[in-house]
Amino acid sequence: MNKSESEISYTGKYTPLSRTELVKKLQEALTPSRFNHVLRVEQTAIQLAQKYGESVEKASIAGLVHDYAKQRPDADFIRAIKQYRLDDNLLNYGNAIWHGVVGWLFVAKELQIENIDILKAVEYHTVGHQYMSKLAQIVYMADYIEPGRDFPGVSKARKATEISLAAGVSCQTQQTLSYLIENKLPVYPQTIITYNAWVPVQTKE
Ligand code: GDP
Ligand code: FE
Ligand code: FE
Repeated sequence: MNKSESEISYTGKYTPLSRTELVKKLQEALTPSRFNHVLRVEQTAIQLAQKYGESVEKASIAGLVHDYAKQRPDADFIRAIKQYRLDDNLLNYGNAIWHGVVGWLFVAKELQIENIDILKAVEYHTVGHQYMSKLAQIVYMADYIEPGRDFPGVSKARKATEISLAAGVSCQTQQTLSYLIENKLPVYPQTIITYNAWVPVQTKE
């Protein structure tokens, strides 16, 4: 790991916490293996931010916090879905969908992050969205291709992300939908909307 990257200091524009304080909160919230994934996503997001011209600080923060809610009890999500009047259909899914689509609310409240671009990147990191900012695309891809990932299709996704963020997003979205269908898993409607926005090469068919 590159020392200068891992020790990036924050300006205070996006969170009053220092990186060290943020890392500590993540370490407390997550299992060691999930915490290490988060650190690798941060580093991969920083590299993509440097390559594609995005704020390294925002990439660091978003990479660190993207899975903050991954280990929370289901009851917390169910309470939040009701309290914030989120889509009732969310109740038909579980942590895989909730930790991003609902989890950003906990990131905002508990990690004192108000920057909308960072919060949207967390919200969209699993199911994507038709409109993803550069930062959201970076987090979506960094999560999928970080060096600890090893699944069929990861090298294809890494190569696509080298070409462009949009090529990476398209590759991941296609592979995830194929995987869900192949395994007869329920597809969250936003996943299909994301697919239609990023994958088809021809419209009007
Ligand atoms: P992680 O949190 O770092 O493990 O990665 P993600 O947040 O990207 O994904 C969590 C899981 O959600 C992965 O296993 C994805 O395959 C899965 N997933 C993504 N989209 C959908 C969907 O529409 N439906 C279901 N059931 N699972 C999905
Ligand atoms: Fe996740
Ligand atoms: Fe992740």
